[in-house]
Amino acid sequence: MRNYNEAEGAEITDHHPSGWPRNRSDLDHPPAETRDDPLAGIETGADFKPFSQRNDMFMRAWWDETIHSKDTEQFFASYRMDASPRRGEGFNQRDFALRNASWTVADEYADRSQAQGKREGFSAPLKPRIEKYSEAVEFDSDVQATAEIKKIAKMFGADLVGIAKYDPRWTYSDVVDVRDMSTRPNEMPEVITHVIVLGHGMDYDLVKTYPSALAGTAVGAGYSKEAATAQQLSQYILNLGYEALASMNDTALVIPYAVQAGLGEYGRNQMVITPEFGPRVRFSKIFTNLPLKEDKPKQFGVRDFCDICTKCADACPVKALPFGPPSFERHNRSSIQGVKKWTADCEKCFGYWVKLNSDCAICMRVCPFNRDYSRPDSQLFLKLARGKWRRLALWWDRQTRNDRRLRPKDWWKALSRSPE
Ligand code: SF4
Ligand code: SF4
Repeated sequence: MRNYNEAEGAEITDHHPSGWPRNRSDLDHPPAETRDDPLAGIETGADFKPFSQRNDMFMRAWWDETIHSKDTEQFFASYRMDASPRRGEGFNQRDFALRNASWTVADEYADRSQAQGKREGFSAPLKPRIEKYSEAVEFDSDVQATAEIKKIAKMFGADLVGIAKYDPRWTYSDVVDVRDMSTRPNEMPEVITHVIVLGHGMDYDLVKTYPSALAGTAVGAGYSKEAATAQQLSQYILNLGYEALASMNDTALVIPYAVQAGLGEYGRNQMVITPEFGPRVRFSKIFTNLPLKEDKPKQFGVRDFCDICTKCADACPVKALPFGPPSFERHNRSSIQGVKKWTADCEKCFGYWVKLNSDCAICMRVCPFNRDYSRPDSQLFLKLARGKWRRLALWWDRQTRNDRRLRPKDWWKALSRSPE
């Protein structure tokens, strides 16, 4: 089993099927042919360190006295109706009722292994219902296996599917036992070679109502869909006789995998921006040794566009997003070390969530790429934004797109008027 426990020192004693990394120094400098970093826009520095799950903001809210408070407890408790606050439009009983219901499937998975110290999908992978079958199906080629798996992922509910090579840089150095918040080594089967990245689009109109408890329905519904799709697809792969570890926010970072799998590009707002949904998409992943052909990262102009746009940073109520170019800057322990990128101050961001008693995604709502791409004007925007006309696209966005908050009561009114 792999052992990335930072507490045990700098030496990493695992090996990758391709031959790397065997130790920390190999991890910092893997062979160039194993990386598409320039194409993906990923740059890691000499001081790079894999991220510790313990430093995730949601974990810190339970063990870090500088974060934990009665208010953070109230934030988590608000996902139960008896503890959800009622404080006006967008935060009424009906809004919390819908938001909290949307989490039901994800919560079922998260709760079922709590007694073993695991929140499935959040601190630990989803447990398979039936173990791997003993005989492995043979495929004619990795191309055939990949084409099949992508179609089946979509049949099970994924909107986007991409394949990346397993990249141990993104595996958490350790994971948390949620009973006492202690850490233990993050164990990954040695045979893993690939990661199937699954994307689920989020509801456009609900996202327009950020900030509100109602808007959090788009997130809960996304997590619930992720859980169901990842569980079904991983079970299919296990039934074929291959390893499959279904993972949501647990085990490893997903954003770099979504970029490496060619599903989108990383933006200033810390999200993967896709041509299909803009930033309005959630990702999960399956670690496997199924013989697959990886996709190449694709750049479609987001980096250049974000260089001339600061709409998300301007709109953030607590100024948690950066205004300058990507950098190695870390705001606190919740920022990964040694990755050059746009990095949010997660303490400021989570502080605002706690104040709201719900998640916030104003930076998703206002992003010019947050559009309904079934519309011709959105397609034209994308065409302009991805090339030399990006300044015109940004100007046009400012003139014509209404990115103001949709009042939650108007969302409810539209719902009652819409055909059954
Ligand atoms: S989620 Fe809200 S608080 Fe956090 S960075 Fe985005 S706009 Fe700011
Ligand atoms: S709002 Fe502008 S700067 Fe922020 S992610 Fe979207 S395009 Fe990039």
